[in-house]
Amino acid sequence: MNRMTAEECRKAIEDLAPQISRYADLIVRKGVAVQPGQEVVVQVPVERADFARLLVERAYAAGAGHVTVMWRDDAMTRLEYENVELSYFQHAPEWKVTLLNSMAEKGAAFIFIDGDDPSALKGIDPAKPAAASKATNAECRTYREGMDFGRNAWTAAGVPVAAWARQVFPDVSEDEAIYRLWKAILETARSAGDDPQQAWEEHNAAFSKKKRFLNDYAFDRLHYTSKNGTDLTLGLNPGHVWEGGSGRTVGGTVFFPNIPTEEVFTTPNRMRADGIVYSALPLAHAGQIVRDFWLRFENGAVVDYDAAQGKDVLRHILETDENAVRLGECALISKNTPIRETGILFYDTLYDENASCHLALGIGFPECIEGGFDMDREALLAHGVNQSATHVDFMIGSDDLNVTGITAEGEEVPIFVNGQWVWENE
Ligand code: ZN
Repeated sequence: MNRMTAEECRKAIEDLAPQISRYADLIVRKGVAVQPGQEVVVQVPVERADFARLLVERAYAAGAGHVTVMWRDDAMTRLEYENVELSYFQHAPEWKVTLLNSMAEKGAAFIFIDGDDPSALKGIDPAKPAAASKATNAECRTYREGMDFGRNAWTAAGVPVAAWARQVFPDVSEDEAIYRLWKAILETARSAGDDPQQAWEEHNAAFSKKKRFLNDYAFDRLHYTSKNGTDLTLGLNPGHVWEGGSGRTVGGTVFFPNIPTEEVFTTPNRMRADGIVYSALPLAHAGQIVRDFWLRFENGAVVDYDAAQGKDVLRHILETDENAVRLGECALISKNTPIRETGILFYDTLYDENASCHLALGIGFPECIEGGFDMDREALLAHGVNQSATHVDFMIGSDDLNVTGITAEGEEVPIFVNGQWVWENE
């Protein structure tokens, strides 16, 4: 591998400026589809203040009425967890509750810019970040439900920060790692060309075939098998819906919750998961890494699990509340996607979950059941859609994963063969 000098890296990043600018436009105009006069809230790492300024400028250019920026900083977060008692994190700060709930009420669009050191909280008691995230989800209810029930458009996208880039590209200089991560982010976000917005229109259309195939069969259950030992059956709900690509708010705004996105997903029945599933990629969660883990399910609930690294992180996820041991999502992603083809392990779920079939523990999606946006949490539970204060995706898409759909009549239909859609094997 050729090493780049610091000067070459600086020049190469400078040359990416037009792409980065189009990427900012993509986030604003496709990601959340900013409406004239709308409030926009941006969460962004302070280390990428340059990108934050660009994003705010593009949001105003797209017609935003006002943009609020919430800065994030891994080092500061770590200091907070090192020095503050667990009990503090059991409630969200009042200012945060007021800010997020009031913005959601005003119909704000929320932009989450990821750029995290995957090991930022190594050695920190996982109970603290787990409590903080649970408290935010429970107390910032208008905000949480605004996104869950399609009232607020939102999107998550990535930017490189140094510690993250170093973990992804450990063999090159920090400057070069940041350059490479920028390139990988732009490419996987289909933003390396002249017209990313058009590229996303085309990408979005490609989800239709997969969704139609799955929705037309209306399978009763899915059976996952892999040589790594995975042998899991997931029951699906009557009236379940497979989603993928753009989302739509109840007000009719078409938006993209994730940039990139490659997944077609639904919410399985919360009481019908049986068997064992092995992880295919490490899980970077709340500043710590969980590796080589498995979960065993009975009647929808995790009854046993283990991990070669990070078992206590997994335990805190599962102990979030009584329903955190149940599944809220199953997603299908072919091994033939731009993300997987980069061969890069991102240590960031936004990217890694879009490179691999995955499941998620915790809350399910109202849009994945017919009429779900009109149901309350009790009705969703009754329809088999899990409810929890957490939602943690983990990757299970090994290269030889097979997924078979089984209809109520017992007909078996191959969906995935060797880690890709059945028709990709032809
Ligand atoms: Zn997913």
